[in-house]
Amino acid sequence: MVFEALRVKRTVGLGWIALLLLAPGGFAQAGGDRSDIRIVSSFVAAGEPVPANCREQAHTFAESLVRYPRPASWHWVLVCDEAGWGRFLRLSGRDGQDSIYASTDLAARTTYLRGARLATPGDFGAELDRVVAHELAHIRLNSRDEPSAEALARLWSREREERQRASTGSENTGN
Ligand SMILES: [Zn+2]
Repeated sequence: MVFEALRVKRTVGLGWIALLLLAPGGFAQAGGDRSDIRIVSSFVAAGEPVPANCREQAHTFAESLVRYPRPASWHWVLVCDEAGWGRFLRLSGRDGQDSIYASTDLAARTTYLRGARLATPGDFGAELDRVVAHELAHIRLNSRDEPSAEALARLWSREREERQRASTGSENTGN
């Protein structure tokens, strides 16, 4: 999956530098996919390249995204650092210490993700999948209701695990 930094732009209202990334063919299969991923970093000035860690977060996120049913057109904003995430929380009227990992604005067709905590390799990998599935469930249901979003996300995760088991079933000898 190849991401290309196409242009640098300031996100309206947030005052951050956002690097607009498009994934030409990256979301692949669904030909009509017009979604975009924007990377927001507190530490990048206009015209500077996307920091390597943000780029890695975007790749990890995109890999997670394609595992679940997703809308044809959506804006994803990956906030690369914790300072930026705290700022996003305050600007959206929440406590900067709030421990949420993502936030979906259904009306604006935009989901914000806490990249620094989600997309780092290791333990958070599974967490990222869970969070992405949960936000996608909000989008599919077009609902802010937490229990129903979580129920659908769990269903998708179970289906995915079953597909994985089915495809590797012949190799499994244990539980
Ligand atoms: Zn939720």
